[in-house]
Order: sequence, then structure tokens, then C-alpha cells
Amino acid sequence: MPTYPTDPRVEIKPFKKIPQNSSNVSRIVLGSHTGTHVDTKLHIQNGGWSMSKIPLDSFYGKCKVLDLTHCEKNLAAMDLERFDVKKGDIILLKTKNSLNIAKKFGKDCICLAEDAADYLVERKIKTVGIDCLSIGNKEVHKKIINSGTIIFESLDLSKVKQGEYIFVGLPLKIDCDGAPARAILIEI
Ligand SMILES: [Zn+2]
Repeated sequence: MPTYPTDPRVEIKPFKKIPQNSSNVSRIVLGSHTGTHVDTKLHIQNGGWSMSKIPLDSFYGKCKVLDLTHCEKNLAAMDLERFDVKKGDIILLKTKNSLNIAKKFGKDCICLAEDAADYLVERKIKTVGIDCLSIGNKEVHKKIINSGTIIFESLDLSKVKQGEYIFVGLPLKIDCDGAPARAILIEI
């Protein structure tokens, strides 16, 4: 799994082991933005809201997966305009990153351009997810987070076709700048 190069490395190590101990327990060390995860306002601003302030319904519901794997550059508003994006939607963006998971972060990683962030904010969508470790630059984060739209990053959409699904992505309930989530899609 790719991780942000300057974030903590993931470590899962035995802490207690059978038979020396009565049970097996591991120590898990990871950054709060590891794997599929949700960003909170605390990520971009001291004192910003964190996970417990996000309504639970931001994490599940009907969603639209948009296939944007043909886009060679960061997604622009014009790339999104041909899709049906409405108020309250959960929009998952499948990009070229999904064709090469190893490139989820790096100079070739496709994320949102600022005008695409504006486009999604204007449409007042509920939640946006992308198959990149970062949804975009700091300005993109600010625009989306300040609008109240919830961000999922580093989704694995490699085997998902464009269409409508039920999305469930519940992050750990920790008051933190971000939290890992197990995200699934249910076919409808
Ligand atoms: Zn993040």
C-alpha cells in the first residue's frame, strides 16, 4: 500500500504472543492519513472540526462512481461537467491512478484541479472520494473542507466500474485530523 512519503511508516508488530502470553496482541503504528481515510478540518487548520463533528450520513448512502481514467492531467471542472452531479451526492472519482495502484502518490498522481473543487463545492455534494492519497493541493483541500463536503482519499477503485452503488465508509471514531476507514461499495 503506498503511503505519503513524509508520513509515518506502517508497522504492525507482535506485542504479546501465545504461548508466552495468554493471547496474541499487536502494536499498530500508522499515520492518520494512511490507506483509505477521511480528512477533517483539523488537517488544514488548528482548532478545526474533527471526526466526531461529521454527521454519520456523510459516510454512507447512494453514490456515483465517475470513470475519469481517460484524463491524463489533474481533473478539471470541464472533465466533471458531463456527469450528473447533484446536491447531496456522494461522488467517487476513478482516475488513471486506479490503473496503477503503485502510483497513487507521486508526480504522476491525478488529483483535483482547483476549478474542479469549485465545481463540486457549487453543487453542494455531500462527500467526494478519490483513488489518490491526496485529493489535491492545499487550496483544493480548503475549498472542499470549508464547504462541509467530506473527503475520502486513497480509495481502491481499481476493480470498480462506473455506475451507482451504495457506499459505506466508516472511519475510526477518533478525534484526529484524519482517520482510516474501511470503504465498500454494494451493487444495486
Ligand atoms: Zn488525507
